[in-house]
Amino acid sequence: MSPASPPDGVVIVGSGLGGYTLARELRRRDGTVPITVISGDGGESYSKPMLSAAFAQGKSPADLVQKSAAQIASDLSIRVMTRHQVEAIHRDRRRLTLRRPDGTGGEIGYERLVLAIGADPRPYRVEGSATAGLFTVNDLDDYAVWREALAPASRVLLIGAGLIGCEFANDLLTGGHGVTLVDPAPWPLGRLLPPELGMAMSAALGGAGATLHLGRSVTAFAPGLATLDDGSQIQFDRALTAIGLIPRTALAATAGLAVARGIVVDRLLRTSDPAIFALGDCAETEAGPLPYIAPLLAQAKALAATLAGTETPLVLPALPVVVKTPVLPTTVCPPIPGAEGHWRIEGEGQDLKALFVAPDGSPLGFALCGKRASEARTLAAQMPPLLG
Ligand SMILES: Cc1cc2nc3c(=O)[nH]c(=O)nc-3n(C[C@H](O)[C@H](O)[C@H](O)COP(=O)(O)OP(=O)(O)OC[C@H]3O[C@@H](n4cnc5c(N)ncnc54)[C@H](O)[C@@H]3O)c2cc1C
Repeated sequence: MSPASPPDGVVIVGSGLGGYTLARELRRRDGTVPITVISGDGGESYSKPMLSAAFAQGKSPADLVQKSAAQIASDLSIRVMTRHQVEAIHRDRRRLTLRRPDGTGGEIGYERLVLAIGADPRPYRVEGSATAGLFTVNDLDDYAVWREALAPASRVLLIGAGLIGCEFANDLLTGGHGVTLVDPAPWPLGRLLPPELGMAMSAALGGAGATLHLGRSVTAFAPGLATLDDGSQIQFDRALTAIGLIPRTALAATAGLAVARGIVVDRLLRTSDPAIFALGDCAETEAGPLPYIAPLLAQAKALAATLAGTETPLVLPALPVVVKTPVLPTTVCPPIPGAEGHWRIEGEGQDLKALFVAPDGSPLGFALCGKRASEARTLAAQMPPLLG
């Protein structure tokens, strides 16, 4: 393959919400700049958050597709190259090495390059895990494989009771599956909720039919069987892990760009190479990695303005995240990691409000459950900005 005419202009690697939102915003501001999106996947646009809420609604992978790559290319007057993996960035020549699944490859040039390459699921490695057939669902292709693998009323072992694990648990329960949830933290959403709200989530998921093993880890797998660190054994039909994401940094690191937890960017979303930018799950902003939709949309808008000629530093207000657990509506707006302070709890039963306050009493973050979740917007306005 030889994409012989290197498109001058902006080349975006990644067709997730980050890559496509940037392409749309840039095209809105600049009707003529050549834009190429290169994607390792099929390039369909879809809402990734739906992946952990689609089962209960009986959605097939095709139902989740909003537009095909061809439709997007035509709507935005851009070029979309699907099933092309970018293998290397040659910064000296401003060119990329590409590889297709059939092994063929080629090169393409760029004037300005944007990395919107997302994050990989954190692997779960214990005795027997390599042959236990563990599933992860991080994109549309994964969802197709997972849905195909799941027979009706399966017993699902779900490892990880963080935001995505709890959402999958709720979704699978509603979809008629059995769910056993295992997490080393003493309550679900351990990093986002104080104990009172975490216990409310635990009760809600338990009440909906989940079996929870909290404060526990799997130590070994055998086919269809997991052994926990307290010696108990869990039989399962399918096992799904949701233990976090790791920003994809290898491509950038190999090209000599600065990486830390993610690809390091400044307020203009610029990497250590002024011709290369990054946004979304792969990037590490001054506020750290921000693997959620709202910051990604703000990044795409700011970067589009910058690429269109008006340097626009990223500004982020406090951005609450809705946890898609209908069994207990929950919204979180965590304080920045390491912030000094304590949780103040009010409310009754499952209708709880937790405010994280600094030693001087000023609010730094919050978490809301049940009926109190409706207070999110008002409270968010009182929080300090993520990036002022
Ligand atoms: C199940 C689930 C539920 C979620 N729910 C929520 C929610 O409710 N609210 C919320 O705010 N956030 C949620 N998130 C997080 C949110 O979806 C992500 O932050 C966001 O979608 C990330 O978009 P992205 O464009 O950065 O990355 P991705 O969508 O992962 O896109 C990365 C793209 O890069 C491509 N790519 C990677 N490497 C290469 C390469 N070398 N060459 C070519 N292409 C490459 C991939 O093929 C893909 O097209 C959820 C995430 C998951 C997994």
